[in-house]
Amino acid sequence: MWLWYNDHMDKNFTDFKLDFGTEEQCIECMFKLRWRWGYFCSRCGCDTYWKTSNGKYECEKCRYQTSITTNTILHGTRLSLYTWFYAIWYISSSNKRISINGLERELGTVDKKTVRKMFKKIERALLKFNAKNLQGIILAKKITITTPDTKKVDIFMAIEADSEQMKLCFEEDSSVKTFNTFIDNNVEKDSTIITSYEYETEELAQNYKFINETAIDEKVWENIKNEIEKIILSNCKDNYHVRYLNNYLNDCCIENNKGKEKSDFLKLLYTFINLPNDEI
Ligand SMILES: [Zn+2]
Repeated sequence: MWLWYNDHMDKNFTDFKLDFGTEEQCIECMFKLRWRWGYFCSRCGCDTYWKTSNGKYECEKCRYQTSITTNTILHGTRLSLYTWFYAIWYISSSNKRISINGLERELGTVDKKTVRKMFKKIERALLKFNAKNLQGIILAKKITITTPDTKKVDIFMAIEADSEQMKLCFEEDSSVKTFNTFIDNNVEKDSTIITSYEYETEELAQNYKFINETAIDEKVWENIKNEIEKIILSNCKDNYHVRYLNNYLNDCCIENNKGKEKSDFLKLLYTFINLPNDEI
């Protein structure tokens, strides 16, 4: 058995085991996630089926057989659904930096090449998950950070007050105009933005409410800046190059944002199952 109890596994693992501990439970969940409005035959659209002895779904009308993974991101996988679900749970609940090596250790008996492929697929779901815009009350401004090569650079940051999910972006030209574009790309319309007056342009004022940054204690801004600097430093020490700063910032956001929302695992699983399969 490749699954064993580990330090990082807190009581959430008990919950996971309870809901997804058997292959049958995982299949049931997969069924609900891929056929949200009930089964339908992908060939003729018929919505009634029977199950074959080898676990496939056979259309009552045209006899077309589908497995639970056919045409999904897991099409043709030789691994059990439980292995996939566990990998997704592990990635969504790990407090440490997500790494292929970590996943490899967790999945013990699965060979390295397969783990690598799994990781790449799950990473796509993470990226998609992270692409979601912030909403509600947002703290946003330009901050100057010290990079691992001790240079000072200006980056834009936006943090959702409720969840502390964040977006970071480095632009060579950190003008009001680029700040506006940053907000436009990362924050849902009608959100409230706490920021410096200088960024409040007519264009943005049409879509967002503004509160001046002085509404928040200067120390809070300073703490946020320090926190972000710390996350960046711990995430991109090796081979740091300013050319890749936005890649590092993106990694930092993924790292920071996962686990900030409740039932992160289910959301990630849902995003994952519904990824298009680009290999078929
Ligand atoms: Zn059919």
